[in-house]
Amino acid sequence: MSGTVAFIGLGHMGSPMAASLVKAGRRVQGHDLVPAALDAAAGAGVEPAASAAEAVADADVVVTMLPAGRHVLGLYDDILAAARPGTLFVDCSTIDVADARTAHERARAAGMRSLDAPVSGGVVGAEAATLTFMAGGGETEFTEALPLLEAMGKKAVHCGGPGAGQAAKICNNMILGVSMIAVSEAFVLGESLGLSHQALFDVASTASGQCWALSVNCPVPGPVPASPANRDYRPGFAASLMAKDLGLAANAVRAGGVQAELGLKAAELFAVYAERAGATEDFSGIVRTIRDQSGE
Ligand code: NAD
Repeated sequence: MSGTVAFIGLGHMGSPMAASLVKAGRRVQGHDLVPAALDAAAGAGVEPAASAAEAVADADVVVTMLPAGRHVLGLYDDILAAARPGTLFVDCSTIDVADARTAHERARAAGMRSLDAPVSGGVVGAEAATLTFMAGGGETEFTEALPLLEAMGKKAVHCGGPGAGQAAKICNNMILGVSMIAVSEAFVLGESLGLSHQALFDVASTASGQCWALSVNCPVPGPVPASPANRDYRPGFAASLMAKDLGLAANAVRAGGVQAELGLKAAELFAVYAERAGATEDFSGIVRTIRDQSGE
């Protein structure tokens, strides 16, 4: 497929993703509510549209990269009627699984085709076009979107039907949130037992405690020089985004009646931590809260 792409939501992620499509030779018509975001994308070759409806009017594919489900559903209400029948809507935002399924239903009812395709890899991955996409929707839609996804990322997995991409995203991030807390607690326990960070790292990273939270994003400074702990916890993956994703996982856990006590507890702990740390601190900084609250 080589037609025009409408890209709505040109923020931290959307702007470099749209720029990757331009670099791959696509015509991209973009829109964002914030004029500065639109100007920045225009600098990268995105054609600015005065409204989202104008951007989608002659597009073959509509990509959205918005903050949350309410933004996606609100926007779909505005633009589904403005697009040509059969247009492929690809939502890359991270949103609630239930909202993603509603978005698919609304698109289908309006005569459109759709895919949920959230991403992993952050702003760095968006800028380097090395994102991983996890997609939910029909096989035909996935195959059709694949060249676009490959222009913005390095890997795309078709996870199943509508909502399956969002499901994979929140399940993965629930593992990550819980494992970061487990690794942080182990380091703080080690400190109280007189164990050095390096000794614990050398053992656990080559033993059964090995995981990404330890061996790549190590929450204490020293053992992994590139981890955010070595730059005063500048993100990386911001605490507020982890809190958001765990909140989405917690919604799905409750809706499904799933026994996931650790996932729910992680959502609770990251919600409290993110109130203070917000978007400016990496999620691995939760180790400091665990340390501060220890020995009380
Ligand atoms: P952002 O806030 O920087 O960008 C969102 C953009 O959407 C903003 O520029 C905003 O003005 C625009 N917007 C909102 N409503 C709109 C509307 N109706 N019409 C047009 N524009 C509208 O957020 P981001 O960091 O780019 O994240 C986008 C999504 O990607 C989120 O769902 C987030 O969870 C997910 N995500 C982010 C990261 C990351 O590292 N930032 C990593 C993976 C996934």
